[in-house]
Amino acid sequence: MDTNTKLSYQQIMIGRAMTGLIGLREALERLAQEGIAPDDPKVGSRLLAEIRKHNYVPRPAIAEYEQALIREYRRYLQAREKGTQEHLWRDPRKEHHPWFPTIFEEKCDGCGACLGVCPNDVLGWNPEHTKVLVLEPYECAPGCQLCAKVCPRKAIVMPPKEALHQRVDSFGGTATFPDPCAGCSLGSCEGCDKIRSK
Ligand code: SF4
Ligand code: SF4
Repeated sequence: MDTNTKLSYQQIMIGRAMTGLIGLREALERLAQEGIAPDDPKVGSRLLAEIRKHNYVPRPAIAEYEQALIREYRRYLQAREKGTQEHLWRDPRKEHHPWFPTIFEEKCDGCGACLGVCPNDVLGWNPEHTKVLVLEPYECAPGCQLCAKVCPRKAIVMPPKEALHQRVDSFGGTATFPDPCAGCSLGSCEGCDKIRSK
């Protein structure tokens, strides 16, 4: 395993867990420069091989890693076409408070109700357009629970609110907490109001 510290680091959703990867950006760029299409049958194994140079990948999770890497490669190519790849994945400040939905795919029937209410484009379809996935976890507004509330199948679970407030406290109150509503068009919600009134 290479320990080159100059490589990029970012977290992406693999299965149901946010997972930090070293060198993801470089791996995606390498494949893009080689002109490899996201539907190339070898793209998953190729990406996995690149990621394994700098990260430990547990054997039972290989399929989930490949699925997530192909998804990110697809997104990376789309962003690259628009010249917005630098904005992909994250706001580093938000990695300090893990507030984002977890979707239980086996419960999701693909009704799309959650997609319609999310103001921050956190959610998106899987490549087959049958289930919803968490694509931009760090765009989720801390305290918001809209998608979980509208899901008729109870397939979306949010972290407990207490965890969010504990996190706010560890930053020394609301003053140093990153603006939880940046980019949110709701104006007001139960979660934000509680955070601001603390
Ligand atoms: S909790 Fe709110 S901001 Fe987060 S994914 Fe659901 S609807 Fe979007
Ligand atoms: S609202 Fe629930 S069941 Fe419908 S697509 Fe979203 S997660 Fe799936």
